[in-house]
Amino acid sequence: MHYISTRGDATQRKFCEILLEGLAPDGGLYLPVQYPQVDDATLTRWRKVYHEQGYAELAFAILSLYIDDIPADDLRALCRKTYTAQVFGTGEIVPLRHVENGVYLEALSNGPTLAFKDMAMQLLGNLFEYELARRGEELNILGATSGDTGSAAEYAMRGKKGVRVFMTSPAGRMSPFQQAQMFSLQDANIINIAVEGVFDDCQDIVKAVSNDLDFKRKYKIGTVNSINWARLLAQVVYYFAGYIQATDNNAQKVSFAVPSGNFGNVCAGHVARSMGLPIAQLVVATNENDVLDEFFRTGVYRVRGSADTHETSSPSMDISKASNFERFVFDLVGRDGARTKDLFSTQLSAAGSFDLSADSAFKDAAARYGFVSGKSTHTDRLATIRDTDARHGMVIDTHTADGLKVALEHLQPGTPMVVLETALPIKFAATIVEALGREPERPAQFEGIEALPKRVLNLPADVVLVKALIEKTCA
Ligand SMILES: *Cc1c(COP(=O)(O)O)cnc(C)c1O
Repeated sequence: MHYISTRGDATQRKFCEILLEGLAPDGGLYLPVQYPQVDDATLTRWRKVYHEQGYAELAFAILSLYIDDIPADDLRALCRKTYTAQVFGTGEIVPLRHVENGVYLEALSNGPTLAFKDMAMQLLGNLFEYELARRGEELNILGATSGDTGSAAEYAMRGKKGVRVFMTSPAGRMSPFQQAQMFSLQDANIINIAVEGVFDDCQDIVKAVSNDLDFKRKYKIGTVNSINWARLLAQVVYYFAGYIQATDNNAQKVSFAVPSGNFGNVCAGHVARSMGLPIAQLVVATNENDVLDEFFRTGVYRVRGSADTHETSSPSMDISKASNFERFVFDLVGRDGARTKDLFSTQLSAAGSFDLSADSAFKDAAARYGFVSGKSTHTDRLATIRDTDARHGMVIDTHTADGLKVALEHLQPGTPMVVLETALPIKFAATIVEALGREPERPAQFEGIEALPKRVLNLPADVVLVKALIEKTCA
């Protein structure tokens, strides 16, 4: 299998060449040259694999279609080391719970940081450690986070050989639980930097460091953001596992509803569907930051300015643009790299938007690709959390509530609807208290974490000081 860029650079690269990379050199995102096709016999075999041998073996079967530059035994060992009941809480790894009338929740948030990002990031940690050891190299991951990404990256990379994480976050802006999760880590290779400023200041620092090519090369600076292909690939597996659990034969179709921000999670659904998994609809659920809902309703993709980006009670979906969306658009326009480049590089920079409404490809996006969408607001979120608690005795988190609210608007009789549960309610306790008047349940291992000693450096929003810290740490 080889990988190409969405912006026309047709250089063919292997998986391990792009594993540690962010963007392709031409500014595009990496995608496989084609999606491997899964026929009926293979899907039947994978059903057995999941039921009899478990999630890790299913992950190995799927990943090995995309990764042929890691020996099979090594790849299998990496999958087995990653997807264990000990790390993810259950033997099924992603168990389904029935809510009502063919609506299910697929649990993706029982990993170490209680959000679905662990599903991919835990594998990434093991892949990075493996590949760096093979090359005899080191990597310094520099990131910016307002919550879930940073903690998932730190819990994936803690204690890994050859990797250090420098994670910037806006001082005092994350929830107390999220701060405690990150700052209580005592591993020497995890460096938390609380920046005096907002999330954009953190992101500007990361960009400034990455744009200093000499510094970047000298200190082997890398990232783990959501555009990394390996993260997306790891997420494809739980669409198969969800489908297998919701059906007993391959003639059945299933829809998935996905609480969406940067379009990484639902893009993995698009890849699974493109491989032939019988998915009816891919339901894109947004919060008040409805860039994606607007696109699927109107054909206009309009990036928001920071003044139009709302702080909501499902904060991990608060985006101004959807960084993985370019991958889907590349497929939508018939994998035309020049066209994709014109849309994302020329039109977006000039006008802040592009319009595909007159394009025949957009007109049958729903029919050909299964995409539909909807939006959920704070009021909807509270109502959905209350209703799900009152009628089913289930407490769901704010992002999952957005997914469930929009899922119910797209139910089709006879087709199971699997809503991806992207976080546990304890991470967003304040809104649960607002909805239900009580604290959400706290998993035992998180009792009292707010009181643990914190390891964090406070710095002004100054790239010079962050660079100095990296130099000093690596010296
Ligand atoms: C990151 C995140 C999302 C959004 O996922 P994307 O892949 O960016 O669309 C939704 N819910 C939670 C809890 C998250 O952490």
